[in-house]
Amino acid sequence: MKNINRRKFLSISALAGAGALVAPQVAAASVKRQKEDDTIPTRILGNTGIEIPVLSMGVMRADNPAVVRAAYNSGITHFDTAHGYQNGKNEEMLGVFFKDKDRSTFTIATKGKANLKSDNFEAEYEELLNTSLRRLQMDYVDIFYTHAIEDLGSLNDPRLLKMLTKFKEEGKIKHIGFSTHANKPAQIDEAIATGVYEVCLLSYNFKLGILAELDEAIQRGVDAGMGFVAMKSMVGGVEDAEGNKKVDGSACLRWVWQNPNITTAIPGFTSFDLLDNCLEAAHSPELKEQDVNYLAGLKSNEMLYCQNCGKCVGDCSKHLPIPTIMRAYMYNYGYKQPALSKDTLMGLALSGNECSGCTSCAVKCTSGFNIANKIAAITPIVNVPSYFLA
Ligand code: SF4
Ligand code: SF4
Repeated sequence: MKNINRRKFLSISALAGAGALVAPQVAAASVKRQKEDDTIPTRILGNTGIEIPVLSMGVMRADNPAVVRAAYNSGITHFDTAHGYQNGKNEEMLGVFFKDKDRSTFTIATKGKANLKSDNFEAEYEELLNTSLRRLQMDYVDIFYTHAIEDLGSLNDPRLLKMLTKFKEEGKIKHIGFSTHANKPAQIDEAIATGVYEVCLLSYNFKLGILAELDEAIQRGVDAGMGFVAMKSMVGGVEDAEGNKKVDGSACLRWVWQNPNITTAIPGFTSFDLLDNCLEAAHSPELKEQDVNYLAGLKSNEMLYCQNCGKCVGDCSKHLPIPTIMRAYMYNYGYKQPALSKDTLMGLALSGNECSGCTSCAVKCTSGFNIANKIAAITPIVNVPSYFLA
């Protein structure tokens, strides 16, 4: 890893001057960060050549621009959002925040889902990207991910590849990426084969059951010039469904960074405390013996994160898309994002709790989830009006 100077912080006197405009805990948190070591290690994102700190910000759940400001002022330069987050408000918030910032001081990634079933796919995808750029108030994004790719047929669909290439040629996106939760080794190999994808955003954490296989695929991607960005590093949120602390996020991040092929992680911090926790880890990113012992102790604990191993789908008598339903469960109970949870389920066209007709559940989840209970706990959200969830 390489160290660079962090961006100059606001002076304490400037903070004091701004004190009337910010909540006391905001000022306190910012002052606290000023006293830290002045570097965050950086890595290069494959052949894109983009140099970014190992810690980036997943903006998905953040709705407070002061947290974005604190991250930016703390030396974080890469911000990850998506067309669908908070129904577009996430991109709009970043647009307002970055409007007067030097474009060379940050990079933005956004994502858009490709509806390849639509006869009007090309025009719809173009409008999706144009809308994101309008919200962001930017001429281009640094990385555009085709969002949540689940199958190889979508990843290498000629219409999708053509549109992504067109966006890049037009200068609306600097680099082409894909994000994925499922079947990751095969997706990476397929992405390499297309010769189009430059960046892969993938779930990567200490609970992964296919780590050796995945690391080998990532190495093949790196050898082909791809860059890798980690999400879901904190296995579905640092809190459980009851709001109790579930995991130490800094140990999770240090575990991710031990793989030099992962350029950066995008934890979705929403509070100053969690930002400070992430920054503390980023300033001392080497995995420690105590982290190893701590994470080993959590290996068999049930988390909110579904590994997307797919083993459950064949066991289910109705072949429900269980991994995606589990992701919706995590969005609501782990990330506290009910609107995103509902959107995720709506895309599946379920007819309510599909488990209600089963007398017993044949599914054996490798993560130990009680699948039927979780499905019963999350599917009613599709009936809640969206204005209650925003
Ligand atoms: S209870 Fe639900 S998850 Fe289990 S087999 Fe029936 S439909 Fe599938
Ligand atoms: S078996 Fe469990 S961990 Fe694997 S995909 Fe199904 S729900 Fe997720």
